[in-house]
Amino acid sequence: MCFYFSSLFACFFSPFCEPPTARGERYKENLTFVSSSREAETRKKPNGHDAQQPTRPLEEHKTSTMEEEQQQQQQVNLVEASKFRIRTSDRRHLDFDQEYDLNDTRAAQRSRYSGPFHFVQAADSQFGMIDSYVHKRTEPGWSEEIELCRQLIDTCSQMEPKPLFLIVCGDLVDAWPATDVRRRQVIDFKRIFARLDHQFDIPLVCVCGNHDVGDEPTMDGILEFKQTFGDDYFYFTKNDVLFIVINSQFYQHRLNVQDYAKEQDDWLEGLLSKCKLFKYSIVFEHIPWFLSHFDEEDDYFNIKRQVRLGWLRKFKDAGVTKIMCGHYHRNAGGWFEGMELVVTSAIGAQCGSDASGARIVKVMDQTIEHQYYAMSEIPKKIEFTTN
Ligand SMILES: [Zn+2]
Repeated sequence: MCFYFSSLFACFFSPFCEPPTARGERYKENLTFVSSSREAETRKKPNGHDAQQPTRPLEEHKTSTMEEEQQQQQQVNLVEASKFRIRTSDRRHLDFDQEYDLNDTRAAQRSRYSGPFHFVQAADSQFGMIDSYVHKRTEPGWSEEIELCRQLIDTCSQMEPKPLFLIVCGDLVDAWPATDVRRRQVIDFKRIFARLDHQFDIPLVCVCGNHDVGDEPTMDGILEFKQTFGDDYFYFTKNDVLFIVINSQFYQHRLNVQDYAKEQDDWLEGLLSKCKLFKYSIVFEHIPWFLSHFDEEDDYFNIKRQVRLGWLRKFKDAGVTKIMCGHYHRNAGGWFEGMELVVTSAIGAQCGSDASGARIVKVMDQTIEHQYYAMSEIPKKIEFTTN
């Protein structure tokens, strides 16, 4: 049993590309978890016997039973979470056009537009924020976020036709990197979202948010994200659309990761030069460049104007069709010279008057349409008629 779960922990926390030192640290962390379970087991079963000793007080027995049930539930959760697959490698999402190479622009090597399709854009599942921010609980749980995510996944699975993918635009969980709460939130996020591709064959696309790598990211935080969810910036293509996912935190704060952030800049500029080869290009990120007007004042929820305007110009000149973001926990957005920026409210906690929900994005021959729905109102039959 112990060997099985040790292996499971190792498997769960050992995605590919993990350097040996990080693997060692993770292993230590996992061993700590296992050994604390063992300690609890030893406490409950002195001398290897079960707790049915006549002298044992009733309260102690109840506590012991609860601990056992909790441990069993933890083990079940870990098994479910281990089904979560990291689906990015070498700055590519692996579930889409595999044959298309960024450096090879021959049109025949990628799929052509073959009719309308849709995907679901969501943001800020942020396990833990409803209890801490809305209910002001000192020891927050995240059962409400779990239920909302389950509802979203079930709805996606029942859609006709099926969405091309579900993307969560950052702040996957609420707790900061390298904390025990974060580790538990990640296990729950993984076990809930594993169903999406494991059971329903719908790809999940994870975007990196400020809560995922920290407001002032370090290489340790970025490495933790990559080991847990995959690349923090990458691209994929499908149906003649170029989808670009970036780590927007580098445009808020890059002091600790300047070389790495510059690598994203160079990569992004190279990718932008390919946009015009595609029918549409869509950029996904967590933090919006702006909330309603491209020249608005700096705010906690937007990117500073000094950085913002230069990148908006690059995106526009490259031919980017839309930029889709989260972070604001409200719906918002605006335009920069005919290029739309869409801000989508949260799956989880709301900061305004919107309901928890997600956005359906329809990619059609002449246009891209999108609409945000409250979770219980997301349609299952997707129509592609234009008004
Ligand atoms: Zn955020």
